[in-house]
Amino acid sequence: MKELEERIIKDGKIINGDVLKVDSFLNHQMDPKLFKAMAKEWKRLYEGEGINKILTIEASGIGIACIAGLEFDCPVVFAKKSKTSNTPEHSYSSTVKSFTRGTVNDIFVSNKYLDPEDKVLILDDFMATGEAAKGLADIVHQSGAKLVGIGIAIEKAFQPGGDELRSMGIRVESLARIKEMSQEDGIIFC
Ligand code: 5GP
Repeated sequence: MKELEERIIKDGKIINGDVLKVDSFLNHQMDPKLFKAMAKEWKRLYEGEGINKILTIEASGIGIACIAGLEFDCPVVFAKKSKTSNTPEHSYSSTVKSFTRGTVNDIFVSNKYLDPEDKVLILDDFMATGEAAKGLADIVHQSGAKLVGIGIAIEKAFQPGGDELRSMGIRVESLARIKEMSQEDGIIFC
């Protein structure tokens, strides 16, 4: 998606070679107009698939997923990363290693918000190793719902997650796919 690629070139900062910082429009300050254009693109790509639920993971996925929920006219559920006193008793859970923090989290979703009739689109901001997306796909699988596909804002295609998920037969639609990035040569898209 040209608009997103241009924004990445304009405002993205490469950290340590394999982490892209996009805090000014995606991960900290958020640009709702850009999110709306991204949502429209996912809607176009998944037209006719009957998606009636969007699933994401806290925290960075929530903003884009919520705007996409308006476009798809459906509820948005986010997987939680920490248990609190109001954690639902009955939940689907999976284990995810965080790419940016290096920590391992149990993620969970109440069984009230996913059921076998659901046709689910998973959305997230980044795809790197695919851990987060695989954890969310596992939760959809446990619920008996249908996983229609995954929508990613920025896929770092030089990391294995996207291709691994595609080779599992899962449809992955990434709006910007980075082939290579370095401080010297900048960002090159696929
Ligand atoms: P994965 O589970 O695919 O390895 O990583 C996906 C998650 O890690 C995303 O939810 C995102 O929050 C974070 N992440 C992975 N790579 C990057 C990156 O280059 N920049 C930022 N800001 N977050 C990333």
